Amino acid sequence: MNIRLSKDWEAAVRVIEKIEKAGYEAVIVGGAVRDYLLDKEVNDVDVATSAMPDEIKKIFNSTVDIGIAHGTVLVLDEGQPIEVTTYRTEGIYIDFRRPEQVTFVKNLEKDLERRDFTINAMAMTKSGELIDLYGGQQDIQNGLIRSVGDPNTRFREDALRMLRAIRFSAQLGFSIENKTLKAIQQDSDLIEFIAKERIHMELSKMWVSRKVYDGINALIESHLAKYLVGDFEKHLEEWRYFNTTSSEVGWAYLCLLNRNQLSDIIHFYKLSNKEKNFIRNVLNAYQALLNRWDELDYFQYDLFTLEAAYDFAIWQNVKVPFKKEHIAMVKSNLPIQSMNQLAINGNHLMEWTTKKRGPWIKVALDAALLAVLKSHIKNDEEHLKEWFLHEFNDEG
Ligand code: ATP
Ligand code: MG
Repeated sequence: MNIRLSKDWEAAVRVIEKIEKAGYEAVIVGGAVRDYLLDKEVNDVDVATSAMPDEIKKIFNSTVDIGIAHGTVLVLDEGQPIEVTTYRTEGIYIDFRRPEQVTFVKNLEKDLERRDFTINAMAMTKSGELIDLYGGQQDIQNGLIRSVGDPNTRFREDALRMLRAIRFSAQLGFSIENKTLKAIQQDSDLIEFIAKERIHMELSKMWVSRKVYDGINALIESHLAKYLVGDFEKHLEEWRYFNTTSSEVGWAYLCLLNRNQLSDIIHFYKLSNKEKNFIRNVLNAYQALLNRWDELDYFQYDLFTLEAAYDFAIWQNVKVPFKKEHIAMVKSNLPIQSMNQLAINGNHLMEWTTKKRGPWIKVALDAALLAVLKSHIKNDEEHLKEWFLHEFNDEG
């Protein structure tokens, strides 16, 4: 087999060689092997090893303890950072969650057995020999997400896996194998035991996946949607054309479709301040779009926000009387792009009047901004002074 030589993969191979030289086993595992077989760009290349974490730290000069309790050491020696994790099983599962405790084991088979899906449970040696104990390669060929072992058992160990099945199916365009899907339908209520941060992470990955509509459909079909906030069934069709490279756009669109549950969504999924700010902006921009954007809208929202609001209209089949390219054009043709490009500021106004400093300054500057944006006044000091003395100075 010829290994496609991504930088990460090459670094992982060098890491493996060093570990082997020290007398231990090491292989590439998980998502990297899956993506390699799918001919997809391989980014994070994870290495699993029979060596214990402290042994790994002895082999390499430069390491970071990023998850020692779980057996993970970040090796920095080889240019690209590579995560090296000691073969392990997971401790006892309590409350349908992944345990904090893990047990290190000596062989790879045990390590692969704890992994969620067959496509994620393969390993590869440094020379490209595939270790596939659960038919992962076949499932990749058939486009199937299948639990390793009995699906009900696996979902009761860690209920997040149910949502991961749906996320991977949306990312890869795969179907969920029948028994696996049935088990999710039976155990869907267990998702309520899972930390919302983990749910947030999976859905964030789903928003930027290729097949979000299929993912939403799978949420409904699997019954998981019942235990999540937001009405997925009612809005299914509005997801049909949804497509983005930004998870924030996904969260904002979920909020838009479920405006009546806005604060529930924000709390349930523990959205970050950054996400909340974006949502507030894009929902305002969307509302403004419905009443037609004016110069101030083009000025105050950044291009990304405007384009997202535009997409929201299109995805919901709301007619917009201009093309998307129009947005960037109008925005770049505004007389000024930011407030500090306005030829005057509060100090100018203070010079031109005997009035005391006060809230009127902001009112006047906003009016000046609008007049400049609408090209009613040229953006230079002379014209703005004339305008100001005429419009503002005679007021009390
Ligand atoms: P990506 O990083 O592209 O989202 P990935 O397959 O690398 O995909 P991760 O969440 O990074 O997914 O997990 C790495 C590997 O760890 C998985 O491929 C899988 O083998 C295993 N894994 C992760 N989460 C679980 C889980 N909840 N239960 C069982 N195994 C898991
Ligand atoms: Mg990963």
